[in-house]
Amino acid sequence: MIKVRDQMLSERIRCAICHTDINMSTPVIQSTINYGLICPTCMRLFTQEEIDIILNLFILYGGYFGQYKRDKFSLIERLLEIVEKEGKNFNIETSNMKLLHLALLHGITPKEFNQSLETFLKD
Ligand SMILES: [Zn+2]
Repeated sequence: MIKVRDQMLSERIRCAICHTDINMSTPVIQSTINYGLICPTCMRLFTQEEIDIILNLFILYGGYFGQYKRDKFSLIERLLEIVEKEGKNFNIETSNMKLLHLALLHGITPKEFNQSLETFLKD
């Protein structure tokens, strides 16, 4: 992460994770992944490692954090969808990443995602 100077923020810029508008007085950090700027809320919400993973997922699959309503997301339903779609090609790691991406789109943090995945696998 690189600290960004104020004069670089003269244009309308959005947080690379949640798409919140970032203005000149917002203290931000710049990601080394895609040079995207991260807002203070996302800095508080995610660890450095999580930010890297999240940015990579959004680069790969598109969208942003909290794009859709949170209550519309069902981890189990989506997991079953992926299992069905992938069939023989089902890969636990790829599927996990796809699921995490979907969770992020619904404003679910990686921490919450892992908790519900653990709960699901226990049952
Ligand atoms: Zn943000």
